[in-house]
Amino acid sequence: MIINSDFHIHSEYSYDASLPLSEIAENAKSFGFRKIGITDHVNFNDKSFLGDLASSAKGVGEFRKTHPEIILGVELTPIEKPEFDYIAKRGTREGYIPPVSEKLYEIELAVTKEQLIEHGVRYAIGAAHWRVDVPNGRKLPADRDAEIREWYRQQMWLANDPRVTVLGHPWWNPSGVWYEDFSVIPRSMHMDIAESLLKNKKYVEYNSSGLFDNKSEKFRMQYAEFIRELFEMGIPVTYGSDSHKQYIDKRTEVEKVLYEVGFREGDFSEIRDEDLWVAEV
Ligand SMILES: [Zn+2]
Ligand SMILES: [Zn+2]
Repeated sequence: MIINSDFHIHSEYSYDASLPLSEIAENAKSFGFRKIGITDHVNFNDKSFLGDLASSAKGVGEFRKTHPEIILGVELTPIEKPEFDYIAKRGTREGYIPPVSEKLYEIELAVTKEQLIEHGVRYAIGAAHWRVDVPNGRKLPADRDAEIREWYRQQMWLANDPRVTVLGHPWWNPSGVWYEDFSVIPRSMHMDIAESLLKNKKYVEYNSSGLFDNKSEKFRMQYAEFIRELFEMGIPVTYGSDSHKQYIDKRTEVEKVLYEVGFREGDFSEIRDEDLWVAEV
C-alpha cells in the first residue's frame, strides 16, 4: 500500500466533527496504519483562539496510554489580521466590522508555537480555507482569479511560517473555481510554493477528502500529478483523510490514481520524529 498512516483526522473534540477517538483508533488498526494524527481545528472558532485544544489534548493524552500510535496535532487556519486584533483587544468577535483598507489584509494564525507545545501538540497542519484578503472574504461570490491570487498568498505565507509542519490540502477551495481544470493555476505559483516548502523543510499533504471525493477523473489526475511533482522535487508527502464524521478506508480508489501518476509503496512519508515538536505534557 502507498498509504500507511494518516496525519489529518478530526475527532469528537473538534467543533465540526463527531468521530470518537476509540473509533478512529480501532479503524486505523484494521486499516493497518502505523501512525495517526489527530488535528482538530484551533485558531478561529472561539475568542481565546485555542478552540477545543484543551479537551482534544486531554482526550488524546488519555488515549495514548493504550494507543501510542496516536499523535496530537492541530489544524491552523489563516485569519484576517484586523479581526484578530479586534478579538485580542475586546475578547470577542461580536461587533467586529471589517475595516476599509487600501491594502490586502495581513494574515494571522493567532496562536504561538509555544502555546501549542504547552498543550502537548507535536505538529501543525496549516491550510487555506477562505479569503482573508478583503472584508467579508467568506461571503463573497466566486472570483477565480482573485481566489487563485489569495490561495497563492496564503499558501506561500504558510510555507514560510515556523508554526506549520505540513501544508494541508493545498488548493482546496470551497467554491471549486479551479476544480474543472487545475491547469488554470499558473505553474510558477506551484514552483514558488514548492521552493518555500523545500527551503523550510516542510511536508505537503495529499488530502483524499477535499481533493478527491466528488471530483472528476480529470481533476483527480491533474491534482495527483501536481503532488507527484512536488514529491519528485524532494518534498515529503503525508496522507490526510481529513475525516470528520466517519472513518473509512478509501485506499483502493485513491491509490489507483496515485499509482497512475507514479507513486509506489514507500513514497508517502510519516512525519519524522526529528520534525515533531517536543511536547511538554
Ligand atoms: Zn482544512
Ligand atoms: Zn481538516
